[in-house]
Amino acid sequence: MPSFNPKNREGFGGRITIALYRIAQAVECLLRDRGKKQRLSPAQIQALLFLNYARPGVRTIGGLAYRLGVTSATSSGVADALEQKRLLQRRPLLEDERVVMLELTPEGRNEAERLEDVLDEIEAAVNALPETEQAALLRATQSIIRRLQAAGYVRVYEMCWGCQFFRKDLHPDDPRGPHHCAFMDAPLPEPHTYLECPDFVPLQP
Ligand code: SF4
Repeated sequence: MPSFNPKNREGFGGRITIALYRIAQAVECLLRDRGKKQRLSPAQIQALLFLNYARPGVRTIGGLAYRLGVTSATSSGVADALEQKRLLQRRPLLEDERVVMLELTPEGRNEAERLEDVLDEIEAAVNALPETEQAALLRATQSIIRRLQAAGYVRVYEMCWGCQFFRKDLHPDDPRGPHHCAFMDAPLPEPHTYLECPDFVPLQP
């Protein structure tokens, strides 16, 4: 099996695993550097990106905790810090006041949009590869992610298009939305179909 000891690092498996580890370190470093510039911790950066792109129903303390892989207390602490910076506000759900939604303020949305290019260095390195290598890398990394997801180490958030539960144009005249989510059994307005969802299940090939 792959090892951190360079003497034992033989074969593709070990070398690729260490390469992925180094890419993960680069991601951490990019988040830290950007955090220094924007006065945000890496967890606050991930929270802003989550709240900017996740579907509305999961923008809660629990949803944030699930996304960050932390406890509710830690998630609540991240939300408190963002609230103190006036980047986020808590709002009780109209239909059920016990549920508190986390909403980005206009300043929070601007801050999240300024983070869009945080992984540009990695994307530039990928774009420098020939297209055939990019295609092979995409297939390989997707396959690794599926396995890690099944083992519970990765949480994949995707948008509705391509999800097994998505029913396109099921009720085109419904004012709540023309599409339908069979998982939530609820209508979906068009803009929500482009948001990230933790309940996404890919269509079978
Ligand atoms: S479960 Fe699927 S269809 Fe429903 S909101 Fe999530 S991604 Fe969209």
